[in-house]
Amino acid sequence: MIRQYELVERVKAYDPTADEGALNRAYVFSLKAHGAQIRASGDPYFSHPLEVAGILTALKLDCDTIVTALLHDTVEDTLASLDEIENHFGSPVARLVDGVTKLSQIELQSDHTKQAENFRKFVLAMSKDIRVLLVKLADRLHNMRTLLFIENADKRRRIAHETMDIYAPLAERIGLQTIKDELEDLAFAEINPDARNSVLTRLDFLRNESGDIVPRILTALREMLTGHRLRVDVEGREKRLYSIWRKMETKNIAFEQLSDIVAFRVIVESPEDCYRALGHVHRSYPMVPGRFKDFISTPKPNGYRSLHTSVMGPERQRIEIQIRTREMHEEAELGVAAHWAFKQVEAGSDGKQYRWLRELLDILDTAAGPEEFLEHTKLEMFRDQVFCFTPHGDLINLPRGATTVDFAYAVHSDVGDTCVGAKINGRMVPLRTRLSNGDQVEIIRSTVPAPSPTWEGFLATGKARASVRRFIRSKQRKEYAALGRSIAEKAFREENETFALPVIEQALPRLKLKTVEETFVALGQGNLTSQELSDACFPTRRRPGVASRALSLMRGRSGATKAGDAAIPIRGLMPGMAVHLADCCSPLPGDRIVGIVATGIGVTVHTIDCDTLVSFGDTPERWLDLSWDKVDSDSPMHVGRLSLIVANETGSLAELATAIAKCKGNITNFKITSRSADFFELLVDVEVEDARHLTDIMATLRALPCVSNVDRARG
Ligand code: MN
Repeated sequence: MIRQYELVERVKAYDPTADEGALNRAYVFSLKAHGAQIRASGDPYFSHPLEVAGILTALKLDCDTIVTALLHDTVEDTLASLDEIENHFGSPVARLVDGVTKLSQIELQSDHTKQAENFRKFVLAMSKDIRVLLVKLADRLHNMRTLLFIENADKRRRIAHETMDIYAPLAERIGLQTIKDELEDLAFAEINPDARNSVLTRLDFLRNESGDIVPRILTALREMLTGHRLRVDVEGREKRLYSIWRKMETKNIAFEQLSDIVAFRVIVESPEDCYRALGHVHRSYPMVPGRFKDFISTPKPNGYRSLHTSVMGPERQRIEIQIRTREMHEEAELGVAAHWAFKQVEAGSDGKQYRWLRELLDILDTAAGPEEFLEHTKLEMFRDQVFCFTPHGDLINLPRGATTVDFAYAVHSDVGDTCVGAKINGRMVPLRTRLSNGDQVEIIRSTVPAPSPTWEGFLATGKARASVRRFIRSKQRKEYAALGRSIAEKAFREENETFALPVIEQALPRLKLKTVEETFVALGQGNLTSQELSDACFPTRRRPGVASRALSLMRGRSGATKAGDAAIPIRGLMPGMAVHLADCCSPLPGDRIVGIVATGIGVTVHTIDCDTLVSFGDTPERWLDLSWDKVDSDSPMHVGRLSLIVANETGSLAELATAIAKCKGNITNFKITSRSADFFELLVDVEVEDARHLTDIMATLRALPCVSNVDRARG
């Protein structure tokens, strides 16, 4: 806590004529009025007005303002009255205290319709004297610094939003840059801690990556400019977290290097030197077109003056440089307060009206209406999201729970389709790894698209899921078409005809199909039987008996490529129903199973825990209760599908094959779904007797040191 004499000394330091007695009386008055009151932080309440006064001494404000700061909460929160204050401190201070009290009573975050109207009142209240706003801003700043002590989360949030929406923009309007920055960062921490953490993580990452690039740039700039006999201070300041975040949100800007988020400042002695320094900068380093701004000849509405430019700097990195005089620099930090503060008390014609008040009113007058003013400062909320980065520093935001594959698809569909591995913050991870805030994600791609059906189990974004499904559907269609073609070829052979596409083309109207490819797909899926195809192609050759033979051969083949489907030993089917085992879960005798009926396809058998079943949740009429028939010892083998994660080491695949063979399993199909430097993800189809057999094999595989995960492929 600032001591009484310290406060007086601080004011005296910039205003030797300040009324020491008034400061001391205000200190004691406030201390007594607040008495035993305490803040949420546990500090005595009086520490608050004292800190507020302290903040205002940094702006070098006049004595009345500092006195007002000490008294600003006495009328509202203590027994003290405005009359008392007027008696003790005079009417100017009483008016200021009254203004701050009124300002504090305006509820700015009330419902939307009232908001704009209340804001008008707010502007009116502070327009009587701009110092009211300065005290209010300092008040808000200290309240934000101690926000974390408030236990009610709703209240914290409301205050943070009000700060972000109203007070930070107001501070900016009157040029109080440092206060604006701090208000925004404090509000940001409350409103969107995840986003803030992701920027922090990103900054840490860049600091590690970039090494001492910033000091090297500073040295190079300083040496170059002093070499041209300019007296300069060169400094590099990291941009504030919230302003980095805002830029990333609104402009999709990439930050690859620490130098991208450091503003380099060259402080010189005179406005002429600003332009001289600018000339040397532009002659020494290539200028980035379109980034030069001269706020010295045309200051910003809030009075900000500076030269801005971007160049390809000494480290061949794009850097942003601001060039200004010391005076301009102070103005930029403190705004209008910097040179109009206490001096104006002496210089003002009647001591009441300040030029900077008129300036502010001008700004507010020329600004858009209150609605637009509010609209402009609204912060988009992103609560249920994680924020990650590409290796180039582009921001990708994803729903919480998203994986590296979601990230890949968010970057581009092609990246997703060809994604085979991923690195997070430089380390190889399995594709299913969920992302955290601030992760830098690098996707490793293959040359051919290879999305895996197993991905669907862990994807969190609709886009990724839809893309994987689309890919698999089109791949399945190709497989159906290939199967259908071989069925058609066989049908032609049985008719002793040479296989010829034109014959099928001519039969299309009779088949009620549009293309030959469609015909093959229909054959492959079982929507069309080979007999129906023969009948359509060779309508004059029908012989009795053939139809039923062909039907019994072809039914049950729909879409299934596995041997043995024709004789699936399942109970609960209607006679003549086509049946096939689902590819997604590859049910085995011994598994609990259900059937899903689809027109034209027949019954697809799934294991009861297959993920695909979820999509049939609201069509119960399509479900069939099924069970396995007794399987005799020499019944055909069945195919079970395993999904494995195996270390990418020499011999690990051989080890795998040996283990399966030892268990009397026969590998019929083998597919690597993703491959990276340290692991494989693969699907293995194994011929087994039943579910129990497959479970034994899985247990054996889990015991292998090279195997990190084994699962039945499900959905
Ligand atoms: Mn207060």
